[in-house]
Amino acid sequence: TAAITIRGLEKTYPNGMRALRGLDLDVAQGDFFALLGPNGAGKSTTIGILSSLVSKSAGKVSIFGHDLDTDLMAAKRCIGVVPQEFNFSQFEKTQDILINQAGYYGIPAAEARERSEHFLRRLSLWDKRDVASRMLSGGMKRRLMIARALIHEPKLLILDEPTAGVDIEIRRSMWQFLEEINAQGVTIILTTHYLEEAEQLCRNIAIIDGGQIIHHTGMRELLKEL
Ligand code: ADP
Ligand code: ADP
Repeated sequence: TAAITIRGLEKTYPNGMRALRGLDLDVAQGDFFALLGPNGAGKSTTIGILSSLVSKSAGKVSIFGHDLDTDLMAAKRCIGVVPQEFNFSQFEKTQDILINQAGYYGIPAAEARERSEHFLRRLSLWDKRDVASRMLSGGMKRRLMIARALIHEPKLLILDEPTAGVDIEIRRSMWQFLEEINAQGVTIILTTHYLEEAEQLCRNIAIIDGGQIIHHTGMRELLKEL
């Protein structure tokens, strides 16, 4: 089965904005995939629908064979989402955020503690485990969101502009971490403005504009065309 299959996806927002116009997309298991495109192209809307944060107007979406219309809970268990905006509770401590997230997925407390320690160490946040999230730097918050998205060991990691506004050193270490996760078998799809980011990380790429995929190719092939 494919990681993601999208057919004829449509989204019209309540204000009449038609953000997606019959979008088709296939992402294979194990892929590291970039959705590239200008502002307003429909990247966030597509990611929002995949993460079931945004409702679709029409079309079919299936995640590891689970149709979003008929098998939503199973689809959700396969997915970890890193949204663009920080959305954790400001006063909660770093490790507690991860332990509570594990709780939503029914992961037992001892296991939750172990996994949270593992991710905090791997993302260089262990020293900050007892610090309230509002005290973290932007790059640390970003890494904490990645840890939170991975705590239930999803097969698919979805990131919306993961390194926007992050300085270059932190960006490189995040790239390295994502490459390791992908090498361990996690399928990754991200949106980005930076061709350099897609070039560095991704094997396949789709360019989206006006709510449709206008180009779908391997990274190597794309670089040859430029
Ligand atoms: P980005 O390119 O970073 O996704 P956008 O400006 O397209 O930024 O959107 C940022 C957020 O603002 C979106 O997630 C969406 O929820 C909201 N938004 C964007 N455009 C509109 C709009 N026309 N009306 C209401 N909300 C909007
Ligand atoms: P991208 O992520 O590629 O910048 P988006 O998916 O955020 O694009 O937006 C696609 C189009 O839909 C844009 O024209 C944007 O203004 C509009 N849009 C996004 N979110 C909303 C919203 N909540 N309400 C109305 N229009 C929106």
